Amino acid sequence: MNGIDKKKSISSKYFEDFTKFTCASDGFDDADGVIFGIPYDTTVCYRPGARFGPKAIREASWGLETYSPALVKDLQDCKLCDLRDISLFGSTEEIFNDIAAVSGDIAKHGKKIIAIGGEHSITYPVIRGIKDVIGDIVIIQFDAHCDLRGEYLGDKFSHACVMRRCYEITKDIYQFGIRSGEREEWKFSKNTKLSMELMGEKNVREIKEMDKPVYVTIDIDVLDPAFAPGVGTPEPCGFSTKELLNSLYWLGEIRDSIVGFDVVEFSPVYDTGGITAAAAAKIIGEMVLMMLG
Ligand code: MN
Ligand code: MN
Repeated sequence: MNGIDKKKSISSKYFEDFTKFTCASDGFDDADGVIFGIPYDTTVCYRPGARFGPKAIREASWGLETYSPALVKDLQDCKLCDLRDISLFGSTEEIFNDIAAVSGDIAKHGKKIIAIGGEHSITYPVIRGIKDVIGDIVIIQFDAHCDLRGEYLGDKFSHACVMRRCYEITKDIYQFGIRSGEREEWKFSKNTKLSMELMGEKNVREIKEMDKPVYVTIDIDVLDPAFAPGVGTPEPCGFSTKELLNSLYWLGEIRDSIVGFDVVEFSPVYDTGGITAAAAAKIIGEMVLMMLG
């Protein structure tokens, strides 16, 4: 057994941890941005499966280039940590408390939050946790749906009510790409800034003038079902992935105000050829580059 050194371990350079989001190789202390998954889809009313979203999005992230020619930035230059998924135990209240605690902790350390859903309900506890730390906050939502119901099927924490719950935290809510909702939701939307179009320069200038911390929530069903078939509640007449990205790039104007974002409602069970997974991973990558790059 000459030449064998049992004490010398094999070099880690040969290995990669593909269970993380691409380039998220930093530890929590070193990171500027912190990713975590929330595999929650308990209140989904039509097609379940968003609980499998975080894993599929992380997998798809490895298939994309880390360099963005649109932003002239590379994910490899970002300090990014992936905490993996929150373990979900107990009642909705207990689960939401855990999500709020994690989000608050990340905000407390001055790091940007990158939450991967899971269904849209998770945005409410994330924002609750952030608000407790940083105070006043503006929410920018991209979605096909208003999500402004007071309650749905007897549940006020349903994903169909998430923006209504958020409205109890902050009145500063901008909704973009909305094309679906019941009459009462559209009536309620006089309280929010709702647009059926995507965010443009004029909107960003208005938000910039508010000079407040901003949280961005992206329900992937804002995309047309042709561009995002893997969703729980597909809604026709949506936007292309490129149209959405071109709108999101305006957030570069307020990059320092953005405290975090989420991408929700991706359900790999209904995806075709990984279309939605790749779109979600791309959106996360470009958002991270805009905030941290
Ligand atoms: Mn939606
Ligand atoms: Mn939604």
